[in-house]
Amino acid sequence: MKVMENGASNEWDIDKLGQWFLLDDKDAILGIPLSSTSTSDRLVWAENKSGKFTVKSAYTLVLDEQKGSGLGHCSNGMARRKLWKAIWKLHLLQKIKLFAWKAGRDILASKENLAKRKITPDGVCEFCGDAVETIGHTLWFCDHAKEVWRNSKFALPFEISATWKFLDVLKALLRCEHLRPRLLELFIATCWGIWKNRNELRAGGKGKAGRSILRNASLLVEEYRMFKI
Ligand SMILES: [Zn+2]
Repeated sequence: MKVMENGASNEWDIDKLGQWFLLDDKDAILGIPLSSTSTSDRLVWAENKSGKFTVKSAYTLVLDEQKGSGLGHCSNGMARRKLWKAIWKLHLLQKIKLFAWKAGRDILASKENLAKRKITPDGVCEFCGDAVETIGHTLWFCDHAKEVWRNSKFALPFEISATWKFLDVLKALLRCEHLRPRLLELFIATCWGIWKNRNELRAGGKGKAGRSILRNASLLVEEYRMFKI
């Protein structure tokens, strides 16, 4: 399916994106810079580096899914399944849980992931220019994410290491749920807000202040509790 209009403007066809994709995915696509040369769209199989589909890579994917090995650094399959089960049971909107699933599988359209698929020439963060834009960098270490967490009233009961993946943090938070109820939901909703804001900024939008992202995340968690139970 061709969504890019290669004309004089070489821009995304926003109407077509709106027609075919969910709002969050549309925002993520709009955040992908287009090549200055007029190349045709092509289908890319995300499970191997060449981007080409092979039966072997599909087979490996199925085996990985069965073993649960796509779930970060958890210790065993059962623990990973338990973790996913807990995430899908959270009191959060479906789109936010879907975000957590994508972040956990490391399949969000971060610059790092786009560079791996050769969609962008490099994976450098366009906001700070300081690091590879991994999902963790965007959500916790980049300047605009730091501003959010600085303004946050909830302190995490541990420090997130630069090597941690999204699932590592969720796993650590699950262990602390008894200390602070709803911490996991609030954390995921805040990460979702940061990611959404990152996509808006990359699409040329103004973006939101850290406080506004936090307020919105907190409202989303509270409102879901109030109206869905
Ligand atoms: Zn950055």
